[in-house]
Amino acid sequence: MTQVKIAAVRTHVLSASIDAPFASSQRWDHSRSQLIVEITGENGVTGWGEAYGPPAILARIIDSTFIPLLVGEDALAIEAIWARLYDSLRDHGQRGVVIQAISAIDVALWDLKGKTLGVSVATLLGGPVRKRIRAYATGLYRRAIDRTENRRLLLDEAKGYLDSGMSAMKVKIGFGRDYDVEMVESLRQLLGPDIGLMADCNHGYDLTHARDVARRLESFDLGWLEEPVVPENLSAYARLRDATSIPIAGGESHFTRHGFLDILRLDAMEIVQPDICAAGGLTESKKIADLASAFGVRCVPHVWGTGIGIAAALHLIAVLPHTATGWDKQYEPMLEYDLTPHPFRQAILRQPLAVVDGMIQVPEAPGLGIEIDVAALETFRVRSDG
Ligand code: CA
Repeated sequence: MTQVKIAAVRTHVLSASIDAPFASSQRWDHSRSQLIVEITGENGVTGWGEAYGPPAILARIIDSTFIPLLVGEDALAIEAIWARLYDSLRDHGQRGVVIQAISAIDVALWDLKGKTLGVSVATLLGGPVRKRIRAYATGLYRRAIDRTENRRLLLDEAKGYLDSGMSAMKVKIGFGRDYDVEMVESLRQLLGPDIGLMADCNHGYDLTHARDVARRLESFDLGWLEEPVVPENLSAYARLRDATSIPIAGGESHFTRHGFLDILRLDAMEIVQPDICAAGGLTESKKIADLASAFGVRCVPHVWGTGIGIAAALHLIAVLPHTATGWDKQYEPMLEYDLTPHPFRQAILRQPLAVVDGMIQVPEAPGLGIEIDVAALETFRVRSDG
């Protein structure tokens, strides 16, 4: 049986400041940062992964606890490695940063495995159901405190997405119910009826205000309402689903098949959005997607990272089963394509993952199908003082 022992694991913390900050309901973002993991096998093949989470903490967990468990192990035995890492911190880390750290390692192992065997990750995951994927623009964050100025900026931004061929986009709300209704109404007016529009609260409301804003947004044909309330309160999600016709979505703050089973059992969400680089990597996200499929729930992964995370999402989305048959099979899962400022999102790739006319190709080269520009990685590396 083929074996590839892990020779080395390296963490890279990258960061870059951005000129124009933008806000979700939780905070203003002034910089972008990311934890990247590089795993090299004894065969000389390197796999790349990344985590969605606080990079310095994640690097610490991997460097101190996971690297000693990885070196010398068979890189192709991904299930066994996943269980070994999870078991090592099960009593202390069933969600959050521990699972995010495992996610980065897991994605890197799938990349290494695909490159070693000469096939794409989508092929390893079961083979593609689709080779091109519709992208939706994630943007339309709050950009100015003054509401008139902010509205002008966001409508210009939305026009830009339309001009570039995007057929769906997502706006940040959760800035007060009147702001939310005014912004969604203005955007729907600009976009017309045929462009997909979704809204994301970043869990900025409690159930009472979430229910009110959802009802007031019902006439604007939203594709979904994302993270209306805090992720811990699944019964509030379930109650909100009963109270509004807008599909309720969430999942970027949930982890592993166990966390998603709770969501599905409670009928808490109509669309689940696991982040492959946070929920447990490709290994666990495939299980989450399969669970969702069994419950008849759509899976649209959350993506907030570099080209590594985008590529990982493309390979998983490629293999997602249809949630309906027959005429309505035209529903296809989408890629979350972040278009907010991010200096190294695509700069660390030798060839960017481009969206053309709102669609993006699943990479066909072995592994994740991307090549990392190591010089660019060095440019954005955070220097450690030891
Ligand atoms: Ca979100």
